[in-house]
Amino acid sequence: MKTFHHLIGGELVAGRRHFAVIDPATGAPFADCPDATREELDRALAAAEGAFAGAWPHDEALRRRTLGAMSEALAGQADALGRLVSQEQGKPLTHAQNEVRGAARLLRICAEEPIPVEVLRDDGKLRVTVVRKPLGVAAAITPWNYPIATLAGKLGPALLAGNTVVAKPSPFTPLSSLELGTLFRALVPAGVLNVVGGSDEVGAWMTGDPRVRKISFTGSVPTGKKIMRAAAEDLKRVTLELGGNDPAVVLPDVDPAAVAERLFWGAFTNSGQICVAIKRLYVHETVYQPIVAALTELAGRVTMGAGLEAGSELGPINNRPQFERVQELVDDARRQGGKVVAGGAPLPRAGYFYPPTLVTDVGAGVRLVDEEQFGTALPIIAYRDLDDALGQANRTHYGLGGSVWTADVARGLELAQRLECGTAWVNQHINTGALAPFGGMKWSGIGRENGRWGLDEFSDLQVLSARL
Ligand code: NAD
Repeated sequence: MKTFHHLIGGELVAGRRHFAVIDPATGAPFADCPDATREELDRALAAAEGAFAGAWPHDEALRRRTLGAMSEALAGQADALGRLVSQEQGKPLTHAQNEVRGAARLLRICAEEPIPVEVLRDDGKLRVTVVRKPLGVAAAITPWNYPIATLAGKLGPALLAGNTVVAKPSPFTPLSSLELGTLFRALVPAGVLNVVGGSDEVGAWMTGDPRVRKISFTGSVPTGKKIMRAAAEDLKRVTLELGGNDPAVVLPDVDPAAVAERLFWGAFTNSGQICVAIKRLYVHETVYQPIVAALTELAGRVTMGAGLEAGSELGPINNRPQFERVQELVDDARRQGGKVVAGGAPLPRAGYFYPPTLVTDVGAGVRLVDEEQFGTALPIIAYRDLDDALGQANRTHYGLGGSVWTADVARGLELAQRLECGTAWVNQHINTGALAPFGGMKWSGIGRENGRWGLDEFSDLQVLSARL
């Protein structure tokens, strides 16, 4: 069995205690992950603090070179690292490898992204400029659905801005992040990047430590709230990328055959384990039947299998608690009168396989509609009145993404602006660009990732004002 290590202060550390990592395609352990002790975490935080006191925050050229080298190394390891992502996360191999390639591209973008300096006044009397300063030690805490993409989305801007980082991946998918640490060890000055494996408790230790000045967190709403409370103690900066319950509103003028496939993959890519997947589908009653029929047909055709099995299009749910939650929500919807028109029971094999499941005849008040399912189950709700559908779409604590589907793009864009969410699409969903600010309204988060907005989350503004 391969050994995985923490990266602490430029050293690979085997760790004193471990937990097993489960292969979601079998339900059986396949590797051990080091579980950071308090002392190991303490060393990582001390190393990050020490590196922040060195040249790193002051040497922009070094930071850009380092990010470029990280990007290249990651791209070179995309096949191998993608294989590990596929095994620990469950997603199809090519999808996992593309995730790693995307992360490499993102680091390249960060290596080249300008750090803005704004001149507010320069008139011979006063010169007033706004510059960005790094915050210090940043904690990067990530979930299990896109382990490498999410981590890269934090490392790129954090390091470019001049911070140092202690990263902690989800205990369900820690190994690829530890491998990434091992890969970057020779490229990043010691202490600038530290990666520790660990349970939820290790995350809580990080967010309670006064040496951490910034927490960049992606995960669930309940954990986000805990993190915000922990951060309040010494006013750490936070970016919270939390859950979603994205609505897609389908207008009567669509061609059902043309949109069904995009709707299907908008809901079920990565087995629905995407914060911005379609999680509630509102369809006008005149096109309801053909859309349900087309989605049912697609659900029946898709190949579900282990990520590493050839031909697999959808993998298992990543972990047992989530697998059980998806079943519970579908069973509850059934009890509330919902009709399961596709899927609806786990596949008869080991592992956490739950096929794409479509539930009709449900609405607000049913948990599958009101809560984030984060898995292979989609409620489809018929509507008559568009204002009512938009009202239902917005009547939620969540506000991550949403979409409108129509033959009239101009009207679609107007309606999209009525959705209360960080990204609103027309005739598509999920598609997020590396340069667009990504994040949530309401309980879906605080702050934004990507582009200059993401960089600002890892910086403090300083005004420099000189009398000339
Ligand atoms: P989670 O909140 O259970 O865990 C996320 C991370 O936080 C893990 O590393 C975990 O160990 C750590 N953690 C847990 N308790 C902690 C605590 N008290 N203090 C500090 N860290 C702690 O979330 P999850 O189940 O891993 O991820 C699924 C959720 O993530 C879904 O709700 C999904 O929508 C959301 N998500 C959001 C985005 C986004 O960008 N908005 C992206 C992906 C996933």
